Amino acid sequence: MSQEKPGKLVIISGPSGVGKSTVVSKLIASCSLPLKLSISATTRPVRADDRPGENYIFLDDADFKRRVENNEFLEYVEVFGIGHWYGTLRQQVADGLDAGDWIVLEIDVEGAAKVMKNYPGVISIFIHPGSIEELEKRLRGRGTNDEESIAKRLAVARDELDASSIYEHLVQNKTVDQTVNDICDILKKSAEQVADGREENRSQQNSRLD
Ligand code: ADP
Ligand code: 5GP
Repeated sequence: MSQEKPGKLVIISGPSGVGKSTVVSKLIASCSLPLKLSISATTRPVRADDRPGENYIFLDDADFKRRVENNEFLEYVEVFGIGHWYGTLRQQVADGLDAGDWIVLEIDVEGAAKVMKNYPGVISIFIHPGSIEELEKRLRGRGTNDEESIAKRLAVARDELDASSIYEHLVQNKTVDQTVNDICDILKKSAEQVADGREENRSQQNSRLD
């Protein structure tokens, strides 16, 4: 995988419960770019709203560790500090970029910072809830996390909102449709810049994925 890849890498982050999965699935279905979700691996327990193999690849601790040792991850993080690991599989990204797709990484701030450092041309978007109160309402409304998990996610969210300035674009998720439109516009503008040859460095990111 040493030659330049024709596809693009897109990071979408935001605190747990802000609406990332909702927005990203609609974005991929409706935005007229060849967007493809990178399916992350995780060791967290399967939730009622999960679709194993579609939104996550669920692994046990030993399998995740083996893949870390085999250098199979582009990045990996213990996201909430409670022993649950999440990681982006190199294979998911490389296959998509080879095919000319725009690969969407729905990952946390720590993982995003690692990817930004290693692939400077990546397009980075942070989805903001507006307020912590609104975020709490959404986490509770989703009904998939217990009290301890909600408290942990809100504590981590405060740090993530503080770190959101490292992202190129900030989008507030007021309504799902508006957010999907805003992100699609950002990506299309980026596609136009690439087509105009104004971003000659963007392609360099993809030659460094070995
Ligand atoms: P994340 O993937 O960021 O953890 P989800 O996509 O699971 O978040 O969304 C969390 C909850 O918030 C879900 O119940 C979802 O339906 C709801 N939600 C998403 N976007 C909005 C919005 N713009 N306004 C109100 N509720 C929303
Ligand atoms: P959840 O458990 O609610 O599905 O996800 C929790 C958090 O893990 C979210 O903030 C999500 O962005 C993050 N996450 C999901 N997959 C990955 C990944 O592959 N890498 C990193 N660094 N974070 C991830």
